[in-house]
Amino acid sequence: MAQINEFPKEEGQTEPGQQAPAQDAAQTQIEKPPWWRRRLIGYLCVLPILAIIIGGTELMKGIVPYLGYPSSIWVFFLTIVALTWGTGPALLLIVLGVTVLDYYFVAPKDQYTILQWPDVIQLVPYVLAAAAITVITHQLERSRNRARIAEMHARTAEAQAQNSARQLSEANQHLTEVNQKLANADRTKDRFISIVAHELKTPITAIRGHSQLIQHRLARQQKQQSLSPNEEKTTSSVQHIEEQTDRLTILINDLLDVSRIRSGQMRMKKEPCDLNEICRAVTEEQRLLSKRTITLHQPEGPLLLQADRDRLAQVLTNLISNAVKYSSEPEPIEVSISQQEGWAVLQVRDYGRGISKKRLPHLFQEFYRTPDAQVSSIQGLGMGLAIVKEIVKKHDGQIGCESEEGQGSTFFVKLPLLQKP
Ligand code: ADP
Repeated sequence: MAQINEFPKEEGQTEPGQQAPAQDAAQTQIEKPPWWRRRLIGYLCVLPILAIIIGGTELMKGIVPYLGYPSSIWVFFLTIVALTWGTGPALLLIVLGVTVLDYYFVAPKDQYTILQWPDVIQLVPYVLAAAAITVITHQLERSRNRARIAEMHARTAEAQAQNSARQLSEANQHLTEVNQKLANADRTKDRFISIVAHELKTPITAIRGHSQLIQHRLARQQKQQSLSPNEEKTTSSVQHIEEQTDRLTILINDLLDVSRIRSGQMRMKKEPCDLNEICRAVTEEQRLLSKRTITLHQPEGPLLLQADRDRLAQVLTNLISNAVKYSSEPEPIEVSISQQEGWAVLQVRDYGRGISKKRLPHLFQEFYRTPDAQVSSIQGLGMGLAIVKEIVKKHDGQIGCESEEGQGSTFFVKLPLLQKP
């Protein structure tokens, strides 16, 4: 199925999957920590901090000569390093710190005896404290990272949602414009059909007038003397012209009706009229035209409606001519009228090809023809039933059809009876 999916790309609009500029900015803003908290800066700071630890510890020992915890300054700075730069620089500070403490402050001083028991016992509590700080900091760092990633995802999702909303609103606007253009084109087409149909009426009336004149002349001549073989051929040609102009007139009138329905200008000239009388006249006319057996069952006396006489005749003509078209001889066509409470019910029954269940719901749509009608030689444009439905609607009535394939069809119309004062 054809789809309109090529919307013109607006300025700033992105391809699907491509990130919007705002989205990129949000991501980089979250991903980049301040420069001084970068891990490399942390490693570079370890040595100066170590120098500060040695200096600080010396100073403390100078102030408090019997200082029992020379490693406390180291633990303090280790905590700061771990919190600021994470586990890598903290581990480096532990390794270097233990070495430096052992050399400068743990007895015997100025010697590396780090692997001997007295040193190990002195340093173990500090190393354990340092390790605990590092582990805790590591956990903190991980949860901080997770929170940052979650925030980043949330911002990305928000940016994507904003982007999608913008794209949707642009698409919506585009669709509204296209709809507007289609509605305008539809109105132009309806106007065109109406103008063409009106314009065609004049030449067709002229053709009909001339052919009737020729027919009258030939008929007069036939009364006075017999016609020559050439004149007889002319008579049959003129009859053919008249049949075709009749067909054209019906088509043009149907086109005009469809255009009136679409523009909401189909008006009814309602007056009190007798449905029995209309049905009698139409049935008789259709019997003569089609030369088919058309029976009529109607109740005694008049059946009064407030209706447009010509339009009701049009409804019945259409239903009977369809029954004639879609059934064949010798099958009869039965027209019946009955009275049900406040309604007059008109039925047209044929024993023709019928309509399949799945086609029935489309029957009253404009320009609808069943597939077998389309491939058959039966002519039609699918306008008749749509017009009939509109006329019935304008009379506050109902229309329907019951049919079975191969068993024929029954079309019924319910119209409100004229209420007696
Ligand atoms: P059309 O000019 O094609 O007859 P209509 O609007 O009168 O247009 O009818 C629409 C379609 O409904 C027809 O093309 C035909 O397929 C189907 N249809 C209408 N009346 C009958 C019927 N009595 N029997 C079978 N099919 C019918």
